[in-house]
Amino acid sequence: MTNPSLLILPGDGIGPEVMAEVRKIIDWFGARRGITFDVSEDLVGGCAYDKHGTPLHDDTMARAQEVDAVLLGAVGGPKYDSLDFSVKPERGLLRLRKEMDLFSNLRPAQCFDALADFSSLKKDVVAGLDIMIVRELTSGVYFGEPRGIFEEGNERVGINTQRYTESEIDRVARSAFDLAMKRGKKLCSMEKANVMESGILWREVVTEVGKDYPEVELSHMYADAGAMQLTRWPKQFDVIVTDNLFGDLLSDLAAMLTGSLGMLPSASLGAPMDNGRPKALYEPVHGSAPDIAGQGKANPCACILSFAMALRYSFDLGDEATRLEQAVNAVLGDGVRTADLLNEEGITPATTAEMGDAVLAALDASL
Ligand code: NAD
Repeated sequence: MTNPSLLILPGDGIGPEVMAEVRKIIDWFGARRGITFDVSEDLVGGCAYDKHGTPLHDDTMARAQEVDAVLLGAVGGPKYDSLDFSVKPERGLLRLRKEMDLFSNLRPAQCFDALADFSSLKKDVVAGLDIMIVRELTSGVYFGEPRGIFEEGNERVGINTQRYTESEIDRVARSAFDLAMKRGKKLCSMEKANVMESGILWREVVTEVGKDYPEVELSHMYADAGAMQLTRWPKQFDVIVTDNLFGDLLSDLAAMLTGSLGMLPSASLGAPMDNGRPKALYEPVHGSAPDIAGQGKANPCACILSFAMALRYSFDLGDEATRLEQAVNAVLGDGVRTADLLNEEGITPATTAEMGDAVLAALDASL
């Protein structure tokens, strides 16, 4: 049997620094768990522009379409701010998402016990929190036509159109139900069916898809009520599925329940490939953090946890993903902190490499 394949795109700024720690963890799984990946590495973003004059070379794009999963660090930086829009580093990332047709964006909000004090909410509201927001990523009001700023009478009017086809709702709903089956078997769908026709259709299609998943407990909530419930008692949720616009807002809200940007992973999934695995891109939520790049200050956990998501959702290695997440939890429990996780003076922060090494030691201890 061939090894699963992984394309690593470290990108710019702190991307290569945090990815170096993930490489150590990938090596650990090979050496200690007999789980070996065919890993290739390439350029994306500003570094790709420096070498090829484009933020994503066609060969890299083609490779991304072939592999079982892509793991990306971050792109961008002040050096590239004045570039033409068409070759800005972010265009490389957008091209990957578009051409791989990654319609389902997974954003977990997970609160590690040792970081519960970091949230702006009360500790008992967030301690042990583990929810997942599935956001539709390729349609809805950010893409619908007509759009633009038009003249109407003697004034201008700005127009965007919320538009969803049944098949677009169906496929993201299925991806959320599949996810719920791998988790707590509870799915809450959020829209505004009270005031939007697209919301009525959304609710009907999700309900219909739900008949194929009798084990999953399905509920519906208006998105505004959902925002309130997320801040009141987020632990009532397991998986939430919602459209592009509401998902944009609700996933940022849910992510911040748990503290630092340096801890937040994400995944974007597309349609299943011939081998049954979905096309997949895993990446930390944070950017290239030019303010701390090259200083060994970056927290590698978001990137490490993105790899844990790849283990679970691309490679069906849920137990190993849990092992890795628990190793991160153990390290935090031992008080190891990169600078972004410290809000008191007098404690020396761990460097990026020290944090990665601590996770490796916790993995060793898990055997
Ligand atoms: P950012 O996420 O890079 O940084 C925001 C703040 O969080 C900074 O103070 C940074 O030091 C801190 N931070 C981020 N990640 C951290 C980590 N792992 N450990 C410790 N601290 C961390 O966002 P920004 O400053 O708005 O953007 C910087 C660059 O990144 C821009 O060029 C932007 O376009 C790009 N960007 C890229 C992505 C991506 O690649 N997906 C996402 C957002 C921003």
